[in-house]
This record gives sequence, C-alpha cells and structure tokens, in this order.
Amino acid sequence: MYILRSKYLLKDPDNVINNGAVVIDDDGKIKFSGQVEDIDDFESYRTIDLGDSAIVPGFVNTHAHLELTHLHKSIDGNGNFTDWIRQLVDKKKGWSESEYALSVRDGIESSLKSGTTTIVDITRNGIALSELLTSKIRKLLFFEIIDFNPDTAEDTINIFKELITGINPDDLLSIGIFPHAPYTVSDKLYRICKSVSDKFDIIIATHIAETKDEVEFLAGGTGHFVSLLNDFNMLKNWKPPRLSPINYLNNIGFLENGCILIHCNYLSEDEIDLIEKTKSNVVFCPRSHEYFGHEDHPFFILKNRDINIALGTDSLASNDTLSILDEMKFIRKHYRDLDPQDIFYMGTIAGAAALKMDNRIGRLYPEYNADIAVIEFDNTGISNIYDGIFSQDSECVLTIVAGEICYDKFEIIKQDNYKE
Ligand SMILES: [Zn+2]
Repeated sequence: MYILRSKYLLKDPDNVINNGAVVIDDDGKIKFSGQVEDIDDFESYRTIDLGDSAIVPGFVNTHAHLELTHLHKSIDGNGNFTDWIRQLVDKKKGWSESEYALSVRDGIESSLKSGTTTIVDITRNGIALSELLTSKIRKLLFFEIIDFNPDTAEDTINIFKELITGINPDDLLSIGIFPHAPYTVSDKLYRICKSVSDKFDIIIATHIAETKDEVEFLAGGTGHFVSLLNDFNMLKNWKPPRLSPINYLNNIGFLENGCILIHCNYLSEDEIDLIEKTKSNVVFCPRSHEYFGHEDHPFFILKNRDINIALGTDSLASNDTLSILDEMKFIRKHYRDLDPQDIFYMGTIAGAAALKMDNRIGRLYPEYNADIAVIEFDNTGISNIYDGIFSQDSECVLTIVAGEICYDKFEIIKQDNYKE
C-alpha cells in the first residue's frame, strides 16, 4: 500500500480536491481518494509527495495503430486519403517482424510517458503481439479484419478465431474484433464479425464515415476508392449498397450493443439519429482529423444529442504524438465554447464507457483500478486546474497502471520525499 499526495486531486472532471491524496492498495486498486487530512487510517504507509502537480485519472486512448509508430512523418498527407493508403501499404512492404515489434514497443512507451493508461490498439495478423501482451499498459486489442471478397469471409474469420485461441484476457487485457472499413470488408464478413462479437461477448468497432470518398463509394460505387480497389484487384463483382455509411452499417445489423464507430467525420442528420438511437459510441481523433484536412467534425452536435464521444490519436502516420493530453489541449485551443470538464471527460470516462469499463477506470474512486497520471504545470496565475492541465507546457511526470509505476520522469520514488 502507498499514498500519492499533491496540491490537486481530480477524482472526476467535476470533482477537484485541493490538497488531495490517493491511497493505492496492493491489489492495484484505489483504497481511498480525498482530502489529505482524511487519510488518518493510512498515515503510516509510504507517501509520495507530488508537490504542486495534479493527480488525475489516467487517459484512455480509444483509437491507435501502434504498429505504425515508426511511420511518423514518412507519409505525405497532402493528397487524398487513398494516396495516403497507397503510401502506407508501400512503406510497410519491406518491414520485418522485429521492425513491427520495435514500432509497437516505442508506441507503448510514448503512450505511457504521456499519461495514457489504457490504449485501444488495432493489430494486423497478431504481429508484434508479444510486445503488447507483456506490456504493463492496460489495453484492448482489436484484431483487424480485412477481406472484401465475400467468398472467403468464412476463411478470414477462421484465421481470426485461430489467432485469438490461446490469448487469455485478464485485468490488463481485453480482446475485440475490428472489421477495418466498408471499402475493405464485405457486407457478409461484417455480418459474421458482428455475430462473433455477440456470441463471444467481445467489443466490435470499425472505421466509418471517414472521408467523402467513402460516402461516394458506398452511395454510387464511384470515386477514388474504385481505382484503389481495382489496383489491388479487390472489386470484382461488387455492387454499391447505395446507402450512406451509417445506414449501411445499420442495414447489416452492426449498430447494436454499443459498438464503437471510429471517425464519423461525415454524417447526415438521419445518421446522427441512428447513432443516438442505437447508443453507438463515436471516437473522434482531433489532430489526425486536422492532418487530413477534413471539414469540421460534427462532435458538438453529437455531444448535444447525448452521444458518447471518446478520443483517439490514430497512428503517427497521421499525427505527431500518441498523447491524449495533446488531443485535449488541441480541442481546448480550437473549441473555446466547450467546457474543459467536457474535454477531460472525453479523454477519460467517455473512452472507458465505450470500452464498457467505466465502472473500473476513468475516475479516481475507491475500488476503481489505480490508473493514474500526474500532470505538472506552471501554477502562476492559474484560476482553475484545467488552465494548468491544458496549458501549452504541462506534461505528464508519473504514470501508474493498476498501482504499478510505469513511467516516472524525475524518478520521484527514489527521492527523499518518498517516505518509507
Ligand atoms: Zn484508424
């Protein structure tokens, strides 16, 4: 058992305590969180005094592709989305398994350094799996499913089933299924993925409504995706569903049981109705969204409709860091009408809720997992904690997952203020 104490403790976005303390039990859970003067019962335990920093719930990155970490700044994002995909496929061609593993390892490390305690990663073919399985970060591993040929849908799902055999989910590990996108997965395979998700009670997500090209492709079978898929010899006898992306998913029964929809950059009013009605979760990737030069994301409208919106970084092939703190700072800077509490909620509880884990992560309450980030910032002139947390120079200095210290910038635990 040990204690963290600091000038600020943020138990949840609306619950900030001055001079707060968190007591972390040996089982990796929070025993107490509240005022320092109320920790009497635990006073004899080791205490780490974090000074003027803020102890906050660890961040939840609800969408990442850690395999692509080493593609930072190596793809030109100025063309259209299908050009970006072509470059991505080309760059990865010669990668060895160890290159993938290093890319994943660096991605996990930089996530932990930025205060992310839960990451939702998309893995292709289970490559670099051991890096993920042995890492101390909390993770949901989505196995990416790609196959546009309906004739081989059963074979593809069998490969997935074989891949996950022998992987045992535990407190730090959950597994999900991720049919990639409506231009790489046949409707038959989407249906099978959905039935696997229901049968094994695992979370399902997909990229959807990401580009105007995708909308055009599904509505009329024209545009950039047609030439991309023809180049990969993937189109064959395909007929467009003549539906908008969310209506397409609804039509194949995908939008049930709180699925996760990644991006949703281009939505019509009736699609927003469907997302709300089916209680689907939306993941917004703010800086990746900016990288691709999309039109404004409709997240303000979604938020007013009571739709759960979580945050993701996407990969470093379309972003500069894997930091949810940086995503929140970006939103704070560009959407001044949004309350900082709501932004913080998106980076913590909304992600936890999308993963159906909001009864154990995303807040610093007793019996929750001790998944914690400590944020340091310049205190001068700060009128509330969010001015500090979202200030340009704020940074994570300590990251704890399930009570275990995973990143410790100043080696605080070795210093004098770590009292035995
Ligand atoms: Zn993605």
